[in-house]
Amino acid sequence: MRHEADNDGTDRTGPDLWERKYHLALERMEHDEREFRAVGDVLRRLSLRLAVLVRGDGGELDRLLDSLTYELRGSPSPATLEPLLDALAEAVTQLDAAPSPASRPDEPSPERAVVDALRADVARLQDLLGAVSARLGDMTRYLAGENAASDAGEQGGRMLDAQVREEMRALGERTLAATDLASLQAEVDERLSVIDRHFRDFREREDARLTAYRERAKRMHDRVEQLESEATTLQDSLRREHELALTDRLTGLPNRLAYDRRVADIEREVREDGGVACIGAFDVDHFKVINDTYGHAAGDAVLRIVGQTLARELEGKAFVARYGGEEFVVLFADMNPDDAEVLSRHLCTTVEKLAFHASSKPVTVTMSGGLTRFTAAERAAAVFDRADRALYAAKRAGRNCCVVL
Ligand code: GH3
Ligand code: MG
Ligand code: MG
Repeated sequence: MRHEADNDGTDRTGPDLWERKYHLALERMEHDEREFRAVGDVLRRLSLRLAVLVRGDGGELDRLLDSLTYELRGSPSPATLEPLLDALAEAVTQLDAAPSPASRPDEPSPERAVVDALRADVARLQDLLGAVSARLGDMTRYLAGENAASDAGEQGGRMLDAQVREEMRALGERTLAATDLASLQAEVDERLSVIDRHFRDFREREDARLTAYRERAKRMHDRVEQLESEATTLQDSLRREHELALTDRLTGLPNRLAYDRRVADIEREVREDGGVACIGAFDVDHFKVINDTYGHAAGDAVLRIVGQTLARELEGKAFVARYGGEEFVVLFADMNPDDAEVLSRHLCTTVEKLAFHASSKPVTVTMSGGLTRFTAAERAAAVFDRADRALYAAKRAGRNCCVVL
């Protein structure tokens, strides 16, 4: 047989030892039972409170919680509680699986209704702001457009400005007084339509003004064009008159007036710039006889042909004019007397060779010339006189020749 030894090493065996162990175990069990009862009591009261707290489903869960509360207030046995707890677990599971009340479309929650109403208000406010922005956009675009600033336009613009300010002031007052969105919307709509009417009136006035302005501008433009055309016609006519005033009608050559102007220029050039020039005076010989023999018209024809011949021979070399009657004057600018003399003699020879006919008979026409140099100290009239004297010297010398003085 094995001997048991206590911790203190003493050997205790026999009935005393077993009795002592039994009492110790009993005491421990009683202590544990008290502890369990205390914990169980706390848990029961806690469950009771929780069961009361979570009530509110209004259905199966509340009924089970009522039963649990009832049992917990008594002395429930595990056999009573376990089916109750299973039923509760099942009810809670179904609660989780059930759709939330807020998500049921057929039964909107109060919160959902408030949110929907707010969203509708926001949408209406956005519409209102959109309408106001559109009106202001129209006005800004129009006022920034072709509506040019003129006195009438500025007056109209100031009037519109005052009207819009007044309406905006009234709108501000009424919107402050508005108690709900519907009345606010009504006020804004009314004020906007008034502003719109003012703006439409303004635009109609401006359009009418611009139309009148454009018509007036068009009339003025047409009148200016007409005046410009008349001015051009007048200028052309003046130019023609001027040319005629300086042209001999019979020969088409420059006339005496044209000669006077040209010779004044040469006189200045010679005097101021030391230029070289000569004056040649030419006269048809016995022209009176031509007139008397073949008629005045034949005389005219001779003058015309002689004049055109002189112009052709002198083109680009010298200026020729019909001085008067059957007398022509030539200005040899920038030409020395020798060259002028050669050219003068050539002119007389050329005229002599012209083949005139009268009554089918050849008629010889000759011309005499007097040439002189332009000197710096002289006036043009004096030079011409000397040329004329040279011409008469040529006449006296027998005609159809040139004399230089
Ligand atoms: P001379 O040789 O000395 O120059 O003699 P002339 O007959 O040419 O000179 P005169 O002065 O005696 O006569 C000139 C004539 O020219 C007189 C005039 O009637 C004529 N006459 C002047 N102008 C014109 C004209 O434009 N046409 C015509 N057909 N004759 C004119
Ligand atoms: Mg003559
Ligand atoms: Mg003459």
